[in-house]
Amino acid sequence: QAKLLGKNQLQVYQPRHTAVSLESFALEQDLRLAISRHELVLYYQGQYSLELRKLCGFEALLRWPHPDKGMISPAQFIPLAEETQLIVPIGWQVISMACSQLARWQDAGHTIPYVAINISPLQLLQADFVIRLNELVDASGVARHRIELEITETLLLQDPDVALEQLNALHQAGYRLALDDFGTGYSSFNRLKQMPLDRIKIDQCFVKDIGRNSKDEAIILSMIDLSHRLGIEVLAEGVETWEQYHFLLRHGCNDMQGFLLAKPEAKPCLD
Ligand code: C2E
Ligand code: MG
Ligand code: MG
Ligand code: MG
Repeated sequence: QAKLLGKNQLQVYQPRHTAVSLESFALEQDLRLAISRHELVLYYQGQYSLELRKLCGFEALLRWPHPDKGMISPAQFIPLAEETQLIVPIGWQVISMACSQLARWQDAGHTIPYVAINISPLQLLQADFVIRLNELVDASGVARHRIELEITETLLLQDPDVALEQLNALHQAGYRLALDDFGTGYSSFNRLKQMPLDRIKIDQCFVKDIGRNSKDEAIILSMIDLSHRLGIEVLAEGVETWEQYHFLLRHGCNDMQGFLLAKPEAKPCLD
């Protein structure tokens, strides 16, 4: 546990001179303000079993309604949030909002199996992450197994042993774990074998050319086969066409997420 990021982290001063830096500095100030005013919001995108087309859960996706710039997508501000470590307080707001939403759905009589939450490596590697997560989730009245934590392969880049220890602690505490954007990052069979995963998510870059690129299709088939042999379920991301849907169904992929069945929405359809 010693190497987990403690409270007193060293902050490295980085000069910012270019026009791009000035622009991102302005955005950073806006982001700080948005965090303190709790202006970031979550959209929810349904995930469905392929066979039954039945809702199996939601992924929470962050949105920033900027006063002048309109809705800013996470692809634009998550990298900045990670550089500035603002992703840590943002991450806690995300977890808190997702738990409250799930609790509200529960109270209204909807049985939503789980909500999936994207967790940045920086946040997950904080020494007190598991303890704080337990406190927050337990206080919300949501069962831990209804929370799926989405992690990426980059989590294992810096210190794989510490990261694996943290993942095991989360698994033991009862959370579901999903490996996001599978196949696009730092993949190693050795690491895959060691992670206590419930699910892998095939990245949309492999899905988008189903029917046109036989290499993508071959990779998808091996990912499905590999996961199932390891006892891990598979979800395909970015499913937009019925051709993709039928290919995935035919080859035994378990679940899907994509514009074909649902887009991310503030108030998603609950069945
Ligand atoms: P991700 O976790 O891989 O999320 C899936 C992304 O694919 C989402 O983009 C979603 O809107 C988009 N998507 C879903 N279905 C389709 C489809 O059929 N076609 C296409 N073209 N795209 C589809 P989004 O919401 O812009 O999020 C981008 C990334 O930002 C996420 O990728 C995730 O890495 C990150 N992110 C989002 N919310 C959070 C958050 O709360 N915390 C952290 N740390 N990262 C987040
Ligand atoms: Mg995700
Ligand atoms: Mg993904
Ligand atoms: Mg992605």
